[in-house]
Amino acid sequence: MPNHEPYVFYKLLPDGRFKLNVDASLMKDFDLCERYFYLKHIKNVRPKGLAIAKPFPMAIGSWWSDVMDMFYEHLKKGEDISKDRIQEIALLSWAKNNIEASALADPKKFKSFGDLAGAVLMLQEYYDSQYLIDKQNWKIVSVEQGFGLKDEVHIGETRRCVVYWVGKPDLTIVEDRRLFPIDHKTTNSIGANTGDEYKPGDQMIGYVHSCEVLAKQLGIDIRVDRCVVNVCSRTRPTDKPRNGGAKKPRFKRYYPNYTRDEIEEWKRDLLLRCDRMVHCISTNEWTWRKTACTNIYRRMCDFHELDSKTPAAREFILAANFQEGVAWKPYEPIEEEE
Ligand code: SF4
Repeated sequence: MPNHEPYVFYKLLPDGRFKLNVDASLMKDFDLCERYFYLKHIKNVRPKGLAIAKPFPMAIGSWWSDVMDMFYEHLKKGEDISKDRIQEIALLSWAKNNIEASALADPKKFKSFGDLAGAVLMLQEYYDSQYLIDKQNWKIVSVEQGFGLKDEVHIGETRRCVVYWVGKPDLTIVEDRRLFPIDHKTTNSIGANTGDEYKPGDQMIGYVHSCEVLAKQLGIDIRVDRCVVNVCSRTRPTDKPRNGGAKKPRFKRYYPNYTRDEIEEWKRDLLLRCDRMVHCISTNEWTWRKTACTNIYRRMCDFHELDSKTPAAREFILAANFQEGVAWKPYEPIEEEE
């Protein structure tokens, strides 16, 4: 059973159009496959017995996001973090994210990450190499502050819909009198192409645009044109890479930039996709993107078992092997990459 009231992201307006409040994770699911989006977010079904534990990379991603929030919440309050506190933060979040269960389900990935002691060490490394510098340079404006549910960020309108953007950056900071949204990410390892994963995409440009809109609403006329992606490698980089090259970093920051033209282009594209979403909702017609069936978030689609059977058999399979799921809620993070 769902553990919260489903958030309804679309609403029929008196003029016959739809109002949509969408975020990057919702749009990503829609882009992956309309049929997947329909089953997951409109019909709200999930396979029964879907592993209770999160996949290990996702569990570590949630753990990392939690510990980062605690770190920067301290910085916002001007509180120091002792060595004991670092350990306590790691432990608290370890238990909260049920890492042990995810580790049992995926021992190979757990081994390459290391155990709780490895996690504490990683946090200590981050503290020494990144956090102490941030402490000097960053003024924390907000930690995990969501926006958009009160229609603060209007994207635009079509003859079928009115669209608002929703999001929750991990941090918003001021550095050198410039405002930046920041998101913490984990990845298997940091390579030459890691930075390419964050642009183009909806999440970071959405934060950048929204940050400027929200600042203006607070009476602050500031240009926001870049963000920070704060990346951490789950795998401890080896001291002696096999190819003899330089050691890979454990932590790295990327700074995607966005011009006004890019932001306008993103808004136009988002409106087109939302217009299509409204068409699908109103007609109940959803296309099947069969090229994605074996590769949704880098694994077999949850609905493969259903859609690989005949139409006549599907109702029975749906009743027998699927159940009502936990509906999308705003601010849920995007599923982690492998
Ligand atoms: S099995 Fe294929 S067509 Fe069906 S929802 Fe998944 S990706 Fe879409």
